[in-house]
Amino acid sequence: MTKEIAVIGLGQFGGSAVKQLHKLSADVTVIDISESKVKHYEDYAVECIVGSATDENMLKTIGIEHYDEVIIAIGEDIQTSILCTLILKELGVESITAKAQSNHHGKMLKKVGADNVLHPETEMGIRLANQLVNMSLVDYMEISDDTAIVEYDANERFINSPLINIDIREKFGLNVIAIKRNKEVIVPPDPQMNILENDVLVIIGKIENLNIFESKMIKPKS
Ligand code: ADP
Repeated sequence: MTKEIAVIGLGQFGGSAVKQLHKLSADVTVIDISESKVKHYEDYAVECIVGSATDENMLKTIGIEHYDEVIIAIGEDIQTSILCTLILKELGVESITAKAQSNHHGKMLKKVGADNVLHPETEMGIRLANQLVNMSLVDYMEISDDTAIVEYDANERFINSPLINIDIREKFGLNVIAIKRNKEVIVPPDPQMNILENDVLVIIGKIENLNIFESKMIKPKS
């Protein structure tokens, strides 16, 4: 079934979410106080509304509570994003994702009922730092406080041996969920398949286990 998602606030963050949701065939409704912003995204949306995130009547009229997900992508105006979260919660919206500008903002959003709080700038900073310190790291995404998905370039240690030989589950409590090879994503990877040069291993697990794996297998002490 097609997911119905509303995006409120069409700045950099909201706008890219809208384009990607459209690409993934979701039914997107865009809402922004600026008419030109709404106009800019009309080709990506099934419904376009010029209005305020805190206009309870408008939100009721469009039946916001029937959406599968509402994304509040207003960072600058903290008061508006909090009030909007509160209204959506009261109207019975099933899942609210809100963008936070700071830790304090994030805490308040959680308090008033946001189900997911995103800190895009902080997350990008962490990702960049991880990549700079560990050159084998291709990408890093925390999916909760203690769990992450990481992508590593296969180093010489792994190349030309079958995936099962790393014994990653037994030794480190981690799982290789995919292998990226050229433009192909092999998911799930066959444990017997040989790892090749330029492969990228996509690994999920507890951050503490990922750190152990990294220190022993990716950056072994000389
Ligand atoms: P980003 O950092 O992702 O660019 P901004 O916070 O700068 O995000 O952008 C916020 C967007 O939200 C803008 O497009 C702005 O017009 C819109 N916006 C601001 N206040 C409201 C409001 N009360 N109701 C709806 N949209 C709003």
